[in-house]
Amino acid sequence: MTFFPKIVRCEKYTVKECGSYHGYAYYKDQIHIDCQYRCVYCDIKLDECGHEGFALDHFRPQEKFPDLKNDPKNLVVACSKCNRSKSSHWPVDIKLEVTYLDEMGFIDPFEHNRLDFFCVELSGVLVPKRSPSKYLIKLLGLNRPSRVVVRRNRQLQRRIDDLIVSAEAIINEVIQSGEMTESSWRKLESAKVAISGVRQLRQEISNT
Ligand SMILES: [Zn+2]
Repeated sequence: MTFFPKIVRCEKYTVKECGSYHGYAYYKDQIHIDCQYRCVYCDIKLDECGHEGFALDHFRPQEKFPDLKNDPKNLVVACSKCNRSKSSHWPVDIKLEVTYLDEMGFIDPFEHNRLDFFCVELSGVLVPKRSPSKYLIKLLGLNRPSRVVVRRNRQLQRRIDDLIVSAEAIINEVIQSGEMTESSWRKLESAKVAISGVRQLRQEISNT
């Protein structure tokens, strides 16, 4: 999935022998795995921000929900900027189960499909589909230039992948048609080499 993939929590987080949770930092590696090494808010991947390091974020802020401080089911991964911007904001009455109400609040990335709330334009800009996405875009600065550039690059890479696949399909179709002269074979072989070069470059771009 190019943007906001479905994420699931591990089946059971480990606990101490006495049955209570470890300190929240203990769950760092597992929460990174659960969040697929992406900031759950702006969707940047750890390797897209130079491995600058993500923070463990208390989805329900510990200031307002002290009982959830070490509960791993309340932990998500956030890039440092989103983490700072989110801070202890929680505009919904803490007595309510819901995470957003009317226009404001947060989308639980493990409970909701974030693509129901946002769409990503080819330009990389996040566009709100339904509340509370407008609130989140503003509060967390989800359309800050660094994130728009990353999303635009992903969109471009996805289009390159689509073009490679369709070019390969056309070549295979021509080959299978069996109506080939010696010279057309050679030309198609060169086209295949060129496409595989593009595929390799594409791979290198996504690994940097
Ligand atoms: Zn972020």
